[in-house]
Amino acid sequence: MLNKEITGMQVYYYFVCKKKLWYFSHEISMEDNSENVVLGKILDETSYKNKSKHIMIDDTISIDFLSDHNILHEVKKSRKIEEASVWQVKYYLYFLKKRGVENFKGKIDYPLLKQSKIVELTENDEKQIEKILNEIIDIISLDLPVKVEKKKFCKTCAYYEFCFI
Ligand code: SF4
Repeated sequence: MLNKEITGMQVYYYFVCKKKLWYFSHEISMEDNSENVVLGKILDETSYKNKSKHIMIDDTISIDFLSDHNILHEVKKSRKIEEASVWQVKYYLYFLKKRGVENFKGKIDYPLLKQSKIVELTENDEKQIEKILNEIIDIISLDLPVKVEKKKFCKTCAYYEFCFI
């Protein structure tokens, strides 16, 4: 994954946890049968069934689905780490814009909460994304994962045992 373009999930993990970003980018995966993951799979299988889902672009970003009026959607279970989701969607808009696809907006859907949030890309966001992409490359180029503080959601992370036991 190191030599490929940055994915939306890597941008998401950049905000969630930089150690997780490193593990994920080095293809270190842990079996995760947590309630969270099971719930995510069920949500994916049962929501927006009439839409074409998981639209892969350039073998790099995977958009959950598209709807009328040029809206790309990202489906999430909860608003707990909303900043990460917002930047993931801004990155999708940036990625499309760099390929000449403009005039799209993003929407984060929270079907379990019956809520949603519109996401747009500003010029400042584009500059910020370029910095983020450079930082992601720096982090994942390291031989070892960065040290990070324990977070309140570490116990529900698939890498918990890897990090703390
Ligand atoms: S357990 Fe915590 S520190 Fe370790 S990868 Fe997961 S979120 Fe990051």
